[in-house]
Amino acid sequence: MHSGARPRIGVLAVQGDIREHLAALRASGADPVSVRRPHELVGVAGVVLPGGESTTIDKLMRAFGLFDPLRAAIAAGLPAYGSCAGMILLAREVVDGTADQQSLGGLDITVRRNAFGRQVDSFEADLAMPVLVDPERPVRAVFIRAPWVEEVGPAVQVLARAPGASGVPGPVVAVRQGAVLATSFHPEVTGDERVHRYFVDLVRGEAGAVDGESGERVGTAAADGRGQ
Ligand code: GLN
Repeated sequence: MHSGARPRIGVLAVQGDIREHLAALRASGADPVSVRRPHELVGVAGVVLPGGESTTIDKLMRAFGLFDPLRAAIAAGLPAYGSCAGMILLAREVVDGTADQQSLGGLDITVRRNAFGRQVDSFEADLAMPVLVDPERPVRAVFIRAPWVEEVGPAVQVLARAPGASGVPGPVVAVRQGAVLATSFHPEVTGDERVHRYFVDLVRGEAGAVDGESGERVGTAAADGRGQ
């Protein structure tokens, strides 16, 4: 795809900050569309799964007939970005999920729901996320009853961690595996579009394989052999 093209990116529109994700994608050079019905997935080059309540989103996706087509599309390589509940929906394994909660898959990670504890339901923190443009500038991360990532498989790159106690790195809160990206936090509410921009680049096949913690690019998608 020509890098000047505006890739069409779907936003799962059953719950959460749908309008904010559409706006952040538009500002990041994409052509965003709401997806609530299976036919609206046709022609999208990527999909965003907003936060909300993962158990509810799971049920609504199944009610709208979206669950199976989305799972199949992601398994076939459709780039996806999940924020908060969206991260939970992409995780291979969920700790503290409900018994009937299902996953779309895409990320070889184990997440813990509501991991930051009941006392601190919501908080904000400045994080280093060196894969973004302007890498020195921290990301203002808004966590709302957020999950964290407890385990990552060998193909998963860690992109950011929450601040830990006294200099110790905190839990993993942003990951990427191939064309699938997830953050525990909500970048759509801060007006900083760099996470969305990173995802749009990834959809265009321009976000190279990156050593997540140093931020060093170790190749481009094309050089990886993943093509455009
Ligand atoms: N706690 C929610 C869940 O389990 C996620 C919260 C969010 O998306 N802000 O799905």
